[in-house]
Amino acid sequence: AAPAPPVTSSRKLVLLGESAVGKSSLVLQFVKGQFDDYRESTIGAAFLTQTVPVESGNFVKFEIWDTAGQERYKSLAPMYYRSAHAAVVVYDITSAASLLKARAWISELQRQADPSIVVCLAGNKLDLADAGQRQVSTDEAQKFADEEGLMFAEVSAKTAQGVEDMFKRIAERMPVDT
Ligand code: GDP
Repeated sequence: AAPAPPVTSSRKLVLLGESAVGKSSLVLQFVKGQFDDYRESTIGAAFLTQTVPVESGNFVKFEIWDTAGQERYKSLAPMYYRSAHAAVVVYDITSAASLLKARAWISELQRQADPSIVVCLAGNKLDLADAGQRQVSTDEAQKFADEEGLMFAEVSAKTAQGVEDMFKRIAERMPVDT
């Protein structure tokens, strides 16, 4: 029989985490392959899309929602993540406080999001580990992710290390339409 034609499934992905951990930078690196040291913090960026081929021969089209920096001023409306298929909860490996904030976001998702949501804990700014600035060990974060049944990645939006691989792994976990 002729192979089934490829199917593209749209999936909503949100980024959560403390302000300045690099959420917007991760999106920019993933979607445009760019990094900007002096970029103004997100103001009103709506959403971006990126399509990823998956093993089955199909495609996952991520609709990526950035918080537009709202977490800085007020709490995010649950509607932002309630209908999400995937969430990347970002912390900064040079900030132990940002991991605490990530833990709080994960509890929030466990309370409010769809139980089938795929969650990835992402330790960003991996490029700063070599400069001796690391405050969160890989082991500590991996152990937490394992306990909570989350995916885990350490990444750098600056050097692009691990970024594509992380989104690709998330895409592989997305159910696709048939
Ligand atoms: P957001 O508030 O979580 O969206 O964070 P931004 O994407 O605005 O990034 C906050 C700051 O961290 C900016 O100055 C970025 O240039 C910087 N930044 C983001 N990702 C990285 C990274 O992987 N490595 C380094 N060294 N800096 C980063």
